[in-house]
Amino acid sequence: MDRIYLDHGSATPVDPRVLAFAQRYLVEDVGNPSSLHSDGLGTKQAVEDARERLAALINADEKGKLIFTSGATEANNLAVRGTAIRNMGKGKAVVASAIEHISVLNPMKDLAKHGFELALAPVDGRGLIDLGALEGLLTDATVVTSVMYANNEIGTIEPIKEVSTIVHEKGRYLHVDATATAGRIPIDVQRDGIDLLTLSGNAMGGPPGAGALYVAPGVKLQTVLPGGGQEQGLRSGTENVFAIAGMGEAARLARDEMAKESNRLQGVRDALVKGILAIEDSHLTGHPERRLPHHASFRFGRIEGESILLSMDMYGIAMATGSACTSRTLEASHVLLAIGLKHEQAHGSMVLTLGRSNTMAQVPAVVDAARGTVERLRNLSPL
Ligand code: PMP
Repeated sequence: MDRIYLDHGSATPVDPRVLAFAQRYLVEDVGNPSSLHSDGLGTKQAVEDARERLAALINADEKGKLIFTSGATEANNLAVRGTAIRNMGKGKAVVASAIEHISVLNPMKDLAKHGFELALAPVDGRGLIDLGALEGLLTDATVVTSVMYANNEIGTIEPIKEVSTIVHEKGRYLHVDATATAGRIPIDVQRDGIDLLTLSGNAMGGPPGAGALYVAPGVKLQTVLPGGGQEQGLRSGTENVFAIAGMGEAARLARDEMAKESNRLQGVRDALVKGILAIEDSHLTGHPERRLPHHASFRFGRIEGESILLSMDMYGIAMATGSACTSRTLEASHVLLAIGLKHEQAHGSMVLTLGRSNTMAQVPAVVDAARGTVERLRNLSPL
C-alpha cells in the first residue's frame, strides 16, 4: 500500500516546479551574492526577485524590509530578541499568547532570565486569544507582543487585526508567526497592522533552509547574527540562494494557486473530520470554523498520543501528535494544556496537515486506520 503523508506541518515536499526553477543555483549559477563579478550580481538578482515575490504574497509595505533567514526559528528569534534588545531603553517587557511555538516562547523565556518581564495571554477552549486579558497584560514597557496567525497544532486562526489594534494602543510592536499560515490563506500585513511577520520557505513548498522576517517601516531592531552584514545588516552569513530563490518561486505559485488548492484541501479535510468524529469519544481540537483549511486535529478519550502515531505509521500513515519540534519531550503539549485540556486528555492527540499529494480517495483508508488504532489502543489502555 502507498503511504499517505499527512504531516505537512512538520515537513513539506518541495514542489517539483520549485526544484526545477531553483536547482540552477546549486549547480550552475553559484556566485556569492556579495561578490562583484557577473556571477555574484546574477545570484544577488535572484535573491532580490525572491524578495519581491514574497512581498507580493503578504502585501508588504514598499518601505518595509524582508530579511531572509535560515528558517522560521531564526526569524522568530530575530523578531523577538532583535526588537527587545534594540528597544531596551524604552521598556523591558514582552508578551506572547500562551500557544506560541517554542521558537517564540523560548527566546522570550531567555529574555526573562536577563531582566525582562514575560507575560502570557490565555486562549479560550477553541484556541482564540482572550483579547481582554491581552489588553490587561500590555504596559508602556511592552516592546514586543507575539501572537501567531494560526496555530500549527490546533489550526485556530487568531483575530490578528483586533490584536494589532490593542497592541498599538498600549504596547509597541506586534510580531506574528505565519509559518503555518502563509501560502494557505491570504495574508495582508498592511491591512492587519503587522509590524513583524515570520515566514517559512518549506511550509510553502519551497526547499528547507530558508525563512524570512518582514519588518514594517519604522520598526527598530538589531541583528542577532552579526558578521558580514548581509541582509541589510540584520542577518549576516552568505545567502542560501537555492533555498531563497525556491522560496520566492513557492510564494509566486502560492499566490496564483492558493485559493483553488486550499478549497480542494478543505473538502478533503472536512471529509476526514466527519469520518474521524464518528469514532466514539473523539473530539476536534481547535476552532471548528476559524481554522486553517488543510488542518484537522483531534483528541481521543482514553488513549496515549505517541502510541496513536506509531499505530497509524504501521497503517502507512504519517501524522503528528503535536509540534515535531517538541516530539522528543514526553511532556503534554503546552497548546493543548492552554486550551484547557487535562494532562491525560492532552496526550491522546492526532494532528493531520494536508498537502498536494492528498486526495478524497485517501479518506476511507485514513478513517479506517484511525478507527482501528483507537479501538486497539483502548483495548490495551489502563485508562
Ligand atoms: N513556528 C511555527 C508555527 C511552526 O509550526 C514551526 C515548525 N513547524 C516553527 C515556527 C519553526 O520552524 P523551523 O523548525 O522550520 O525553524
